[in-house]
Amino acid sequence: MLSDQTCVVTGGSRGIGRGIAEELGRHGASVAVNYRSSDAEAREAVAQIESEGGEAIAVQGDVADYDQVEAMCEEVRDAFGSVDVLVNNAGITIDKTFENMTREDWDRVIKVNLGGVFNCTHCLFDDIKAAEEGRLINISSVVGQQGNYGQANYATTKSGLFGFTRTIALELASTGSTANCVAPGFVKTDMLEEVPERVQQKILDRIPLNRFATVDDIAGIVRFVASEDSSYMTGQILAANGGMEW
Ligand code: NAP
Repeated sequence: MLSDQTCVVTGGSRGIGRGIAEELGRHGASVAVNYRSSDAEAREAVAQIESEGGEAIAVQGDVADYDQVEAMCEEVRDAFGSVDVLVNNAGITIDKTFENMTREDWDRVIKVNLGGVFNCTHCLFDDIKAAEEGRLINISSVVGQQGNYGQANYATTKSGLFGFTRTIALELASTGSTANCVAPGFVKTDMLEEVPERVQQKILDRIPLNRFATVDDIAGIVRFVASEDSSYMTGQILAANGGMEW
């Protein structure tokens, strides 16, 4: 389904990104698994993709650093040629109530979650434009839609992706390439593990489907958006949140 497609998944070494990387690889894509520091996990993801008959490489690079992103993109092109699909998934949280949040806490989250999206999209924009049907897929969050106590910095970055995606969708439209957002609800990954148990229970009480998402719940949606089945969909937010309102 995705054969001949080269996909870059930022933050592909763990959690949702890893699930996406493996899913795209399973469906025939050549996958670049980006990571910042978890080298062993990135290699495991590559090994997993290869064990299922796919093709993958691990590419180190901090998405917040433009020069590192440029070097990473060159590494991917050397291995697989021009890039067709970029999944901007890498993201971090530094949770504090707003009155306790420092300017550094704010800047760091903006730099990774929005700056990283700028850097990766900018470095791969010509590739996506030139692809037969390129895909930009930004991983946002239900928190960007609802806001969330203690996450002013994170929520701001995840809302910001809506305006960014919509604008890039318009700028790409004449080329046939698309830009969309996937906005997961709460997903069982290391990021959610950082949330205290009692807060997790409060969140669970607000989810009509009465469970957290699995990584696979999100990866399947990203695979659909990456595929030619989504050709006529652009500038959209696909919410996968177990029925939470926003
Ligand atoms: P996670 O388990 O903490 O994994 C984060 C991934 O991002 C790791 O592979 C990490 O690699 C990478 N990463 C972090 N900073 C990076 C940087 N500066 N440069 C390159 N890679 C970096 O997170 P997750 O839960 O899978 O979340 C993935 C995305 O989904 C995020 O954008 C998050 O906002 C979004 N999301 C998550 C949830 C949830 O409930 N978990 C819900 C909605 C949306 P290293 O280990 O090498 O740093």
